[in-house]
Amino acid sequence: MSTTTTTTTTARAVSGPMVDVREVRKHFGHIEVLKSVDLAVQPGEVCCLLGRSGSGKSTLLRCINQLESIDAGEIFVAGERIGYEEKRGKLHPLSDRAVARQRRSIGMVFQRFNLFSHMTALDNIIESPTGVLRTSRSTAKARALELLDRVGLADRADHYPRQLSGGQQQRVAIARALAMDPAVMLFDEPTSALDPELVGDVLGVMRDLAADGMTMVVVTHEIGFAREVADTVVFLDGGEVVERGAASEVLTAPEHASTQAFLSRVL
Ligand code: ADP
Ligand code: MG
Repeated sequence: MSTTTTTTTTARAVSGPMVDVREVRKHFGHIEVLKSVDLAVQPGEVCCLLGRSGSGKSTLLRCINQLESIDAGEIFVAGERIGYEEKRGKLHPLSDRAVARQRRSIGMVFQRFNLFSHMTALDNIIESPTGVLRTSRSTAKARALELLDRVGLADRADHYPRQLSGGQQQRVAIARALAMDPAVMLFDEPTSALDPELVGDVLGVMRDLAADGMTMVVVTHEIGFAREVADTVVFLDGGEVVERGAASEVLTAPEHASTQAFLSRVL
C-alpha cells in the first residue's frame, strides 16, 4: 500500500447527514422491495448494510445513486435532494443533465469490476474526469497516478484489465470512482466475486479510505471488516430495516431474530 498520500478525502462540510434516506419505498411489479426505509449516514461515517440475499440492499444503493427511481420518500446526498429541485415552493424532477451532475458526486463500486476492457488502468481512471469534468489530460493523469499509488497499483498504470487480477481490477475501480472526488462512496459487495486470497487487499484499500474520512455505505458479507471498520451497521430484512446501531453493539449482541440468524450463518 502507498506510504505517501497526496490526496485526501476528508468529509465535506455538510451540516446534516451526508446521505439521508427518508421513508423510501420501491416496488418491482407487485413486490415491495423497500418498505419505508430510513437511513442516515453522517459525514465520515462508515455504514455497513447487511442482510440476506434479496433483502433490498442493492436496490437501496441503486436508489441512492439514481440507478433506480423511488416510488415514495426522499433521498438527500450532501444536503441536496436527489432527483428533484425545489422551485417556487414546488418540487420538479431534475433534468437528465442535472441528474448526471448529482450522480457524479456519488462513487459506486459493484461486485463485478466494470472497467472498460479496451482501456488501460490509467485510461479507465481519467476517462470521466477528462470526458465529463473537462479536466486537462495532464492534470487528470497526475491525479490518476496518485490514486493508483494509493490503491497499491502505481506500477500497473499501463496494464489492461485482462492483465490484472480481480482484486487489482477492483482496486482500479475504486480509484476510478475516487477520481470524481465523490461526496460518498457506495460499495455493493465489492469482494464477493473475488478469490479469497484477493479479498484482503481490496478491504485494505477500503479501510484506508475509511481512515481518511470518506463517507461510505458498504454492502458486505465480510463481518470481520464490518466489525473492524464500520461505525454503524444497518440490517435489512424483506425490504425493512430490522436493526441498526453502533457496529460494536449490533454485531456482538444483535436483538432481532433475523439479525441473529444472519450473523450465525456468516460467522
Ligand atoms: P439484495 O441486494 O439484498 O440481495 P436486491 O436489492 O438485489 O437484494 O433485491 C431485492 C428484491 O428485489 C429481490 O426480490 C429481487 O428479486 C428484486 N429485484 C431487484 N431488482 C429487480 C428488478 N430490476 N426487477 C424486478 N425485481 C427486482
Ligand atoms: Mg445485492
